[in-house]
Amino acid sequence: MGKYLIDTHIHAVGATAAYGKLSDKIRRVEDAINIHSRYPELLRARFSDEIIDISDDLIAIMNQHGITHAIIQQTVGGGSNELVTKTVKKYPDRLFGLIHIGGFDIPPADIAGRRPGKRPSEEELAKNRKKAAEEIRQGVEELGLIGIAEFFPRRFTMAVHPENIAEDLSPFMDVVAKYKIPVQIMTAYTTFPHNLMYGDPVWTDELAYAYPDVPIILTKMGRGIPHIFENALSVARRNTNVYLDTVGTTGEHIRKAIDQIGANRIMFGTDWAPTWRWVTEPTDYYTLRKSVLDKANLTPSEREQIEWRTAASVFKLDLE
Ligand SMILES: [Zn+2]
Repeated sequence: MGKYLIDTHIHAVGATAAYGKLSDKIRRVEDAINIHSRYPELLRARFSDEIIDISDDLIAIMNQHGITHAIIQQTVGGGSNELVTKTVKKYPDRLFGLIHIGGFDIPPADIAGRRPGKRPSEEELAKNRKKAAEEIRQGVEELGLIGIAEFFPRRFTMAVHPENIAEDLSPFMDVVAKYKIPVQIMTAYTTFPHNLMYGDPVWTDELAYAYPDVPIILTKMGRGIPHIFENALSVARRNTNVYLDTVGTTGEHIRKAIDQIGANRIMFGTDWAPTWRWVTEPTDYYTLRKSVLDKANLTPSEREQIEWRTAASVFKLDLE
């Protein structure tokens, strides 16, 4: 094992009691992907139930799998950036935290009714953008957080044209640019509603071009889906400030990405979360996510780069 192994992608804050044991509902990756379509009441409860602290479980599993450090963020629900900071402070030698912006866009009434949700008004979107700018300032200056967590574009825009999306995100991206901190933007699917369209990262090309000093991490690098991976890679090839994380991808895609943009633009991540951690087939979740590195034909220096050097440099981590 190398000097460090950094998991850059963990949803450690916001779990509720219902997620404390899901082994009867999730065994395979496929079960986790559609968990909220099958059990909308679980998702609804995230906004009403008390939050449980799963950080001891996280540290135990990190120890078991040789993960030296993790960069944590909230999951959908009733968490807060303050709670992320509190969790980081519980394990200050192991954890770093990211700022969630814009709240979470899952109106409980829409979930209960299983009907199309109400579209946010332009006023609501403008309010969310302004609030995000303040959340970023507070996250950096008061809470000691080091980047922007995966956010939900629909909280800030209903646009579908890339130039319109980039313009709508500019009120808070200008603040991100001031601090020059990294931003995670998800690709492919999530287990949550309203995300699939924005999961094709073609639109992020405009944003990356407009903010060359902001490291943009396209999380999941297409999640193994060929056309989404190719689009993520195209954006990364055109913009040297774009990075990819390895969540849910394949060894083949990691290999191709290294050959085109270099291992110094790729970082390890697992997406360990209240749902995903219950995956047990064909192996436990961490073993599954780590196994893609073994399938990518890495040289020792490429492995070291992906396991920690890229993350240490992009997030400016103090590892001593
Ligand atoms: Zn995630």
